[in-house]
Amino acid sequence: MKALCWYGTRDVRVEDVPDPHIINPRDVIVRVTLAAICGSDVHLYDGFIPSMERGDILGHEFMGEVVALGQKDGLKEGDRVVVPFPIACGRCFFCQNQLYSSCDNSNPNAAALEALQGYSSAGLYGYSHLYGGYAGGQAEYVRVRDACYLRVDIQTLPP
Ligand SMILES: [Zn+2]
Ligand SMILES: [Zn+2]
Repeated sequence: MKALCWYGTRDVRVEDVPDPHIINPRDVIVRVTLAAICGSDVHLYDGFIPSMERGDILGHEFMGEVVALGQKDGLKEGDRVVVPFPIACGRCFFCQNQLYSSCDNSNPNAAALEALQGYSSAGLYGYSHLYGGYAGGQAEYVRVRDACYLRVDIQTLPP
């Protein structure tokens, strides 16, 4: 697939990269139909965010169509979804209290981020390895984690 990849300060390129695939049962693969370029992406572009690696796929604001699922409950193929910046497991204390950007389970590098900025964070799509090193959505396809739980949370939000 094609994806926008970071190669260094003010050096981003559209490259051919391997397609994402399902890793865990709660994953889905989204075919991206629209992606935004955010002001936060400028911080990556200008080289202000540490722990970026050559070839990292950018993009944390995207929407699209579900084309593959790890399990058959929750979402289904063909569902159109808007994917938020933070990755939320839906099960931890913070997610249960709708504090999704503080999810305890989605950032494997939480300790390093806490050492740098004094507190941790959920994993984020396309936003450095301190935030989990997840491939982002300025791409044709994205692996979206814990998508089934996320849908349930959205439906139970108060109006
Ligand atoms: Zn943003
Ligand atoms: Zn969580």
